[in-house]
Amino acid sequence: MKIRDILKAKKFVFSLEIFPPKPEADISVIYSTLDELKQLKPDFVSVTYGAGGSNRGRTVEIADRINNHYKIPALAHLTCVNATKDYIMEVLTQLKSKGVENIMALGGDLPKDVKDPIKDFRHASDLVAFIRKSGFDFSIGVAGYPEKHPAAPSMEKDIENLKIKVDAGADFITTQLFLDNDFFYSYRDRVQKAGINVPVIPGIMTATKLLNLEKMTAMCGVSIPERFRTATATCAIDNPVCDETVKYTVNQINHLIKHGAKGIHLYSMNKAGQNMRIYNESAIAGMRK
Ligand code: FAD
Repeated sequence: MKIRDILKAKKFVFSLEIFPPKPEADISVIYSTLDELKQLKPDFVSVTYGAGGSNRGRTVEIADRINNHYKIPALAHLTCVNATKDYIMEVLTQLKSKGVENIMALGGDLPKDVKDPIKDFRHASDLVAFIRKSGFDFSIGVAGYPEKHPAAPSMEKDIENLKIKVDAGADFITTQLFLDNDFFYSYRDRVQKAGINVPVIPGIMTATKLLNLEKMTAMCGVSIPERFRTATATCAIDNPVCDETVKYTVNQINHLIKHGAKGIHLYSMNKAGQNMRIYNESAIAGMRK
């Protein structure tokens, strides 16, 4: 099923993101996680894509499995820097042949080891336009950044660029993680004021090791609010499931729901237990009754 139709049909949409195990790791690990997470009956599950193409096959394989074995609409991520039109067309054809109907169209980070990483696509908007012209009818999601994309000169410019991306044919926006909901609310307002009329789904990082969170937020230009640091002060830096971070995430989700979020997209980090806990302890379950 296409995500644009799910978004039209439901007042609230719940989804999960997973990432493929490294090429050398056993792929069945992710299926054990999905065996548990499927109990949450997500409206869709997204699967990330290695920008270098190293686990491209795995993204298609896992999206196929989500769609056809678990019978959950799959959202396959696809990045376009360093890619040619032929390569993208090949991936689109593979996804279509597996019945995958949804693509998260991304720029991707420029690889450091490639001399000229810009081939046929420069920005995600080029990929959206290419998919729209491909003849395949995918529902398309794009990325949004409540604290601005790190490379954008200003939030105004980033929103202008977001509009180009959506006008090229995107159906919805999923945000980068954020730990302070005020960034999301002010971003959603700016998006609406810019005349961008597609749903903005908040992406929420589920409780992970503080150590990993520190690394991730620094990499993505996401700030850690003082109240998060205070709330999690007693958590050990490498404890994978700390009660305080779970509580913080549950409160963050409940606040978003109370303030009209169209859905919640959980960055599951491939961890079934803590995502099930967050789902059950938050208002998500109640929104789906
Ligand atoms: P773009 O939309 O191209 O934006 C990148 C930068 O270029 C921004 O600063 C933007 O303002 C600017 N820009 C955009 N269009 C224009 C234009 N026309 N003219 C001038 N400037 C422009 N990475 C992966 O490798 N694999 C994944 O699976 C993956 N999944 C993600 C999922 C989500 C929800 C998010 C938020 C990010 C994800 N990423 C993933 C990371 C993403 O690839 C990086 O953040 C990347 O740096 C930018 O991708 P983008 O799609 O936002 O690119």
